[in-house]
Amino acid sequence: MLSNVAVIGAGVSGLTAAYALKKIGIEVDVFERSESIKEFGAGITLSKNATILLQDIGLMDSLSSKGCHPMGSYIRDYKKAKVIKSKRLDKNFITLDRRDLVATLATRLEDIGCSIYFDSEIKSIDPTAGEISTSNHEKKSYDLILICDGIKSSLRGSYFDNQQPQFTNYVAWRGMTTIENLPKYEGSDKVNVYYGPGGHCVHYPTGRDNLINFIAIEHNKIWSEESWKIEGSKSEFLNCFEGWNEDLLSMFSSAQEVYKWGIFERSLPKTLYRDKCVLLGDAAHPMVPFLGQGGCLAIEDAYCLMSLLMEEKDINVVLGQYDKLRNRRGSWIQKRSKFQGIFNHVSNPSLAMIRNFITKLIMNNSVNRLHSYDLIKEISKLKTL
Ligand SMILES: Cc1cc2nc3c(=O)[nH]c(=O)nc-3n(C[C@H](O)[C@H](O)[C@H](O)COP(=O)(O)OP(=O)(O)OC[C@H]3O[C@@H](n4cnc5c(N)ncnc54)[C@H](O)[C@@H]3O)c2cc1C
Repeated sequence: MLSNVAVIGAGVSGLTAAYALKKIGIEVDVFERSESIKEFGAGITLSKNATILLQDIGLMDSLSSKGCHPMGSYIRDYKKAKVIKSKRLDKNFITLDRRDLVATLATRLEDIGCSIYFDSEIKSIDPTAGEISTSNHEKKSYDLILICDGIKSSLRGSYFDNQQPQFTNYVAWRGMTTIENLPKYEGSDKVNVYYGPGGHCVHYPTGRDNLINFIAIEHNKIWSEESWKIEGSKSEFLNCFEGWNEDLLSMFSSAQEVYKWGIFERSLPKTLYRDKCVLLGDAAHPMVPFLGQGGCLAIEDAYCLMSLLMEEKDINVVLGQYDKLRNRRGSWIQKRSKFQGIFNHVSNPSLAMIRNFITKLIMNNSVNRLHSYDLIKEISKLKTL
């Protein structure tokens, strides 16, 4: 077994991986460039494929006490909010405020004696020696380095491949409001998705102070902003969704601030590891967020690495198996998420009718298939080969 591991980045992937590895007896240091655990006030949904893994490593109870189990979801038409299809969800599906998710992961990690070094940007690494160099020129050596520095991963750019994240022509508008501003129709307090011409919108409760999270996706040819996330103008936002359901728009306008978020993508590198370094989460397989799976896959990555390390002593075998499982899974969900955008945004009315008919027929099965991916089973299949 490895004796020590460095984790670069304290987002969902880094914190979950650090917790999982520390639980199996590996010494873990986490390095985060921000001065504290910072997350954007927005929601996140986690489905069964991730929550059963969080349950297995003992994190789910703390998260359940912060989040919400909406127990149902509705797909609606953009104009009249007419239900195209509804689906029951079970307790394995949770929605949270991101601030609660990362703060809970960090607290649980510190409770089991793991150090998180803030203000510690890792500028460079030596993949062969397993050495990292911090922003204050300190060098430390580890048996393995987990690169969890997100979609913009500069370390991936320096040591794996040099392709840059590309703008996808999608812009996400995000905001928070409170429960009394929800549209008044039945089921609006659950997960709601609206399909419309050239866009889609999602809202759900977060479990924090009656806060409702919403995301509205539109097409845009360019992203000219310096940052990927800026405070947006409410009137610009509402203009983009002119003609959509009035109750939905009035909920949008009740938000104090709205943020505009450029959606970027980056294909997977050829392999997810090199010497003593391995990529996890968005650094490995960022995706458009239309299936709500980026964070779930980050949790799967963390669990996968832990589980393989428990069974196999040779790190090269572990990394080879990790790559085999996660590369295939990441590239499939990346493609599937992209397709979902095309499906949700159909503009032609006849095609939209066909899309709605298909949704009625297959939504239950396709969501079940997505959420019932069983990583534990996949790992055990690999072990019997
Ligand atoms: C609009 C939108 C909605 C989404 N909704 C969902 C959803 O409902 N469900 C879901 O599962 N996923 C969702 N996602 C995807 C999900 O947010 C991401 O996949 C997930 O946050 C990735 O986590 P990560 O830890 O890999 O990266 P990040 O969260 O980006 O964390 C990276 C961390 O690394 C740090 N860092 C960067 N460089 C360095 C360095 N050199 N040294 C030290 N630290 C560094 C950063 O400060 C940061 O803290 C959504 C994404 C978007 C854009």
